Amino acid sequence: MGFCKWVSLIFILNLFWPIPISSKSLSPNELAEISINFLNYAKEPELAKWMVDIRRKIHENPELGFEEFETSKLIRAELDKMGIPYKHPIAVTGVIGYIGTGEPPFVAIRADMDALPMQESVEWDHKSKIPGKMHACGHDAHVAMLLGAAKILQDHREELKGTVVLFFQPAEEGGGGAKKMIEAGALQNIDAIFGLHVSSGAPIGTVASRPGALLAGSGFFEAVISGKGGHAAIPQHTIDPILAASNVIVSLQHLVSREADPLDSQVVTVAKFQGGGAFNVIPDSVTIGGTFRAFSRKSFMQLKHRIEEVIRAQAAVQRCNATVDFFADNKIFFPVTVNNEVLHEHFVNVAGDMLGIKNIKHMEPLMGSEDFSFFSEAIPGYFFFLGMQNETRAKLENGHSPYFTINEDALPYGAALHASLATRYLLEYQPKSHLPKGKLHDEL
Ligand SMILES: [Zn+2]
Ligand SMILES: [Zn+2]
Repeated sequence: MGFCKWVSLIFILNLFWPIPISSKSLSPNELAEISINFLNYAKEPELAKWMVDIRRKIHENPELGFEEFETSKLIRAELDKMGIPYKHPIAVTGVIGYIGTGEPPFVAIRADMDALPMQESVEWDHKSKIPGKMHACGHDAHVAMLLGAAKILQDHREELKGTVVLFFQPAEEGGGGAKKMIEAGALQNIDAIFGLHVSSGAPIGTVASRPGALLAGSGFFEAVISGKGGHAAIPQHTIDPILAASNVIVSLQHLVSREADPLDSQVVTVAKFQGGGAFNVIPDSVTIGGTFRAFSRKSFMQLKHRIEEVIRAQAAVQRCNATVDFFADNKIFFPVTVNNEVLHEHFVNVAGDMLGIKNIKHMEPLMGSEDFSFFSEAIPGYFFFLGMQNETRAKLENGHSPYFTINEDALPYGAALHASLATRYLLEYQPKSHLPKGKLHDEL
């Protein structure tokens, strides 16, 4: 391979990997000061209280995926007040804001906006006013933190060496809002993206993540197993779908225990079993459903293939028919959330400067999933968890619990991390949009 080809190859690699450059103007100490200053700025009582107020307002009015109309309106009103231009609507209720030069490089920071269809059981002044809907995953706090980051960045916009793009994303909880934003062109020209999630278990002032696969890819399935109903005392005249479904469930358990590599973590869970309504009637059909998880696309697709095969074949053993639905149209296959290795280094530097390196925790992969994975599948991305637990107070409930609460003292940390990850990315990295495009074209 000649020299030109090597140069060309290096350029091609650059398209996919941000390459660190030494910032000419700022020393490591000066870069560290940005992170420390941003945290102090975010902790100023006025800004911290403003974020708390926003979070509480959103908490009182939770909206489900693609219905975040009031949340979206509130976000736009705050961006208007700050003089931050934005695009709307993106993916129904999504908002994309821009801070900085308006020129490349572009780095995105993202918050999800949707609530869950569940009743809040926490009794407090700002309890959900909508029966059956609750911000039980902390997305209200995510929006408040991203607006807090917007405020910090807008107040320091002269220091931005490029453009920070704010992603307010709809429908994270199973709706595939990130995918819809990508289809609407949201990632065009974006060099890297950062996202965070509040963590009930991790102490406040700490963050946790890892390079590579962080969260599993996930999918859902539902199967209708049909037989022939009849009197429970005359089983010979029926084709019993309850027994068939039971055997299907047992067989599905063997996919992970007998077919998967024990070192390649996977899950198949049947969480739904509906059939029959009387003690003495065998029903016509049974519906089962569940979820499956894996840490590679190959394992994920293999599981999907075998789940369908096992359900159909095992139902047939008991003379039943089965139809299997993976809800592919609703786009609820979430890819594996993979953290870019170079961005991991950036994260450790930025968060380490802000919080102290001992407060940057390495975490093991989790079987949960996140639709941030759609972004990080398309461009270099990085996702991390933000600690909330104050050891002197009561233990916080986990996400998706009706007793879930937020430690609002964590809001300044999230805002400052968003803002300094983005600001320092623009200062310290030479993303693809800076490449000599004509040269690249000539080489190819
Ligand atoms: Zn959630
Ligand atoms: Zn969430």
